[in-house]
Amino acid sequence: MTTVLWLQGGACSGNTMSFLNADEPSVVDLIVDFGLDLLWHPSLSLQMGESAKQLFADCVSGAQPLDILVFEGSVIEGPDGTGRFDMFADRPMKDWVTELAAAANIVVGIGTCATYGGLPAIDPNPSSSTGLQYHRTKKGGFLGAGWTSKAGLPVVNIPGCPAHPDWITQILVALATGRAGDLVLDDLGRPTTFFKTFMHNGCTRNSFFEFKQSTMTFGEGTRTGCLFYEFGCRGPMTHSPCNRILWNRQSSKTRAGMPCLGCTEPEFPVSDLAPGTVFKTQMISGVIPRDMPPGQDHATYLAMTATARISAPAWSKEDMFV
Ligand code: SF4
Ligand code: SF4
Repeated sequence: MTTVLWLQGGACSGNTMSFLNADEPSVVDLIVDFGLDLLWHPSLSLQMGESAKQLFADCVSGAQPLDILVFEGSVIEGPDGTGRFDMFADRPMKDWVTELAAAANIVVGIGTCATYGGLPAIDPNPSSSTGLQYHRTKKGGFLGAGWTSKAGLPVVNIPGCPAHPDWITQILVALATGRAGDLVLDDLGRPTTFFKTFMHNGCTRNSFFEFKQSTMTFGEGTRTGCLFYEFGCRGPMTHSPCNRILWNRQSSKTRAGMPCLGCTEPEFPVSDLAPGTVFKTQMISGVIPRDMPPGQDHATYLAMTATARISAPAWSKEDMFV
């Protein structure tokens, strides 16, 4: 059996909701088929009060072996570094995180708040929230840049707002079945099996992106145009498989006409949600998108755009999915 303890910091429980929706494999599969022993989870466990506190203390002392610590939500350090804005089992949650992370073989951060700080960490960050091993794009976070778990791994980061159910359960299966050594993590601690490709890969709007044809209507199904040019889609610069591993097995944001917000990247939410930056492409001189796909610069973009628009065939301006 692989023991798992799941705790929540500054969280909306969105990743727990996502986890409970998993079906390849499901939470029940994890327990019945893959030998996960879920010691405690804030939404699923019956243990409360002193008995729960004793369990956490036993994990810290080693009386209860702890294989995987899962953390959802930001680590709250306020006010003034005390962590008392987030009290849990009679002490600041951040103190439990310090001790349980040291006791666990592997630590997994689930969701962008746990991995990079997410929404709670944007300015002015009144709760002094941070991620487990990153603060936004900067390595360090709560545990520190050089921190590794007993198994010698940095925090395994599964970002997303929320993370897709299958990303969570499939990584937990890999860890529970002794395949932690097979995980290749990128520079931001994300397993490359899910986070090497871009959200843009597999998007049904790719042919419109190619010919620089914009959709003009928010929420316009899978039909016409690309959401990059007007609606701020971050698919080309966001590492996630949202158009390969579909949500609810059938859709993605861009398939439903909603721009990708880049929730698996450490800078999420981009521009700290400043007015006028959400669902709106930020432009330079009113014509060139400020943020380019990795590997492209503005000069190349301008040259490509001019060529693509001139050569755009009639079908690239039409609704093809009749
Ligand atoms: S809608 Fe977004 S993800 Fe889809 S092709 Fe356009 S830029 Fe790429
Ligand atoms: S489409 Fe973009 S914003 Fe939506 S879940 Fe995927 S990475 Fe996050």
